[in-house]
Amino acid sequence: MKKREKAPSTFDPFLERLVRESDTSSDRIRAKLSNVYDWGFCELCWRSTEYSISVGAQKVFKRLKRGNVKVTPLTDAIRAAAQKKADALVARYEQAWKGEFGRYEPARMLMAYCDMVEMRGDRSVSAFREHVERRILIAAWARHGDLLRPTKLPGQPEGAAKPSKLYCEAHNPRRSDEARRAYQRDRRFALEYDELIDKIWSQEAGTLPKWDIEAHAYVRREAYRLLQALKSPTSTMDDLLTLGTMSQAEIARQLGVSRQAVSAAIKRRAQKQATR
Ligand SMILES: [Zn+2]
Repeated sequence: MKKREKAPSTFDPFLERLVRESDTSSDRIRAKLSNVYDWGFCELCWRSTEYSISVGAQKVFKRLKRGNVKVTPLTDAIRAAAQKKADALVARYEQAWKGEFGRYEPARMLMAYCDMVEMRGDRSVSAFREHVERRILIAAWARHGDLLRPTKLPGQPEGAAKPSKLYCEAHNPRRSDEARRAYQRDRRFALEYDELIDKIWSQEAGTLPKWDIEAHAYVRREAYRLLQALKSPTSTMDDLLTLGTMSQAEIARQLGVSRQAVSAAIKRRAQKQATR
């Protein structure tokens, strides 16, 4: 199946006008985006890439005179009409699964209404609903202006780096100093990380469903936790404590250790500093 042929436009905050979004010129990124399960995962952990988040943050703009643009509000009327359409489609999909329109109809509907890469291989009725609801809503909204994908992430200042197709917010080296440190730290172990992911898949081959995106996220999260524990857990904890921006609970979650372990480490640190 081909991915979108038409390049979507984008509002460029520097030029302050619409520009064609050149999707990608790099083979590496093209290969990543065509993988049904992996396209939305950060290369270095289990989180979503900035790009996959920005895909879900589309907006509709209206062109004004002199090249300005204005956000078109998403009204309740647009929402209600889109919901009605989506409900009808989902009902039809459900019937199709029961075989009412012949055995090929579910596949045909998926091809017609969904992007299987974005759906990550999940063909269930609930995944279909979620996907179709969003698409129809955006299509209905887009009729009132031009559909644009923002060049910046929600909550980021003007002029910030474009959403990364390879990394999450915590690993994009262009996002922040902290993210660059995390990127430099984890990139060294990228090979080991991939090996750990493969290892967990083969260890739990009988119990983990390969078609389930949640299983993929689980495996990547477990592998990340193992990797951090293998690669000097105390020094990672030290790094985080020195930064002082995270609570104990957050540090524990990030490293996959207990809160008690974190507070014990803090005590050890305090003793070390006192004897110095
Ligand atoms: Zn990441």
